[in-house]
Amino acid sequence: MKKTSTRLADGRELIYYDVRDDAVRDAVDRRPLDRTVTASQVRRDPLLGDAVAIASHRQGRTYHPPADECPLCPSEGDRLSEIPDSSYDVAVFENRFPSLAGDSGRCEVVCFTSDHDASFADLTEEQAGLVLDAWTDRTAELSHLPSVEQVFCFENRGAEIGVTLGHPHGQIYAYPFTTPRTALMLRSLAAHKEATGGENLFDAVVERELAGERVVLATEHWVAFVPYAAHWPYEVHLYPRRRVPDLLGLDEGARTEFPQVYLELLRRFDRIFDGTGAGTDEPRTPYIAAWHQAPFGTLAEFDGVVREDFALHLELFTVRRTSGKLKFLAGSESGMSVFINDVPPETAAQRLREVASS
Ligand SMILES: [Zn+2]
Repeated sequence: MKKTSTRLADGRELIYYDVRDDAVRDAVDRRPLDRTVTASQVRRDPLLGDAVAIASHRQGRTYHPPADECPLCPSEGDRLSEIPDSSYDVAVFENRFPSLAGDSGRCEVVCFTSDHDASFADLTEEQAGLVLDAWTDRTAELSHLPSVEQVFCFENRGAEIGVTLGHPHGQIYAYPFTTPRTALMLRSLAAHKEATGGENLFDAVVERELAGERVVLATEHWVAFVPYAAHWPYEVHLYPRRRVPDLLGLDEGARTEFPQVYLELLRRFDRIFDGTGAGTDEPRTPYIAAWHQAPFGTLAEFDGVVREDFALHLELFTVRRTSGKLKFLAGSESGMSVFINDVPPETAAQRLREVASS
């Protein structure tokens, strides 16, 4: 893997990740861009204690541009995009319309491939491995920024999720605090450790799931299952068998096997609703893929828990509950944070095994 870091016309950082060690990335951004004015502010809710990023400058962001104006395609002739080069393998750049910026963290865009019409599930194993390398490298780099406490790599796929650009891409949010969901997990981890005299809750959960009926796939280095209390109609949690706190901790075996495992899960997601994946009118399954990593800040407020207790894992879920119908976060979910799931997790797991690649 070769990494080349450069700057866009307005000063934002752009990093190319190439499979080939002899790749040359020296194209210059020729756009007359003004420096972007970002006014992100993190406010804390006094009753709930959680944080809200107020980012008013985002209202003017690019919204469903035509394919020939895609800002994530490589630049070609006079058509200048966010990527000055005429091709790339994986490219990462600072978001022009960030939800978090400056002292409030940082937002990056990860372009998975230069192929506008592809999806992550269409990538080769080599390309998917390069994305994993990019996620890992960005986690390391962002964790060194003084304002950053937690790094979150994720992908929103599909217009139903609110994706405004069709080009296959994901995002990285580097937060200046430990996020509420991670804090909840750390609290559960601390309580379980205390109650059991040292047992790790993540290990206990994975062990219980492996012995049950919700396993979706299990390989030498990874296990995937629908969790006991899945919140979403189809939801899979993917863990490396050897517990590590973040992407940097993955060993060579897990890294090598990851592309094959993850691509298989994504392809199964595309087959959930139509049984074949291609050739039907059903649009590809919208999903959110979210990497959970240990925060880099102090864990002092979580009694007795250390970074190494956290288990890196990926949560993959769709908001589609049945063909043509979406799960909305309505009164109970949005008003009270109580999820109502219409698909029993055991049924979801069964379906996700049925649609395995032969
Ligand atoms: Zn594109």
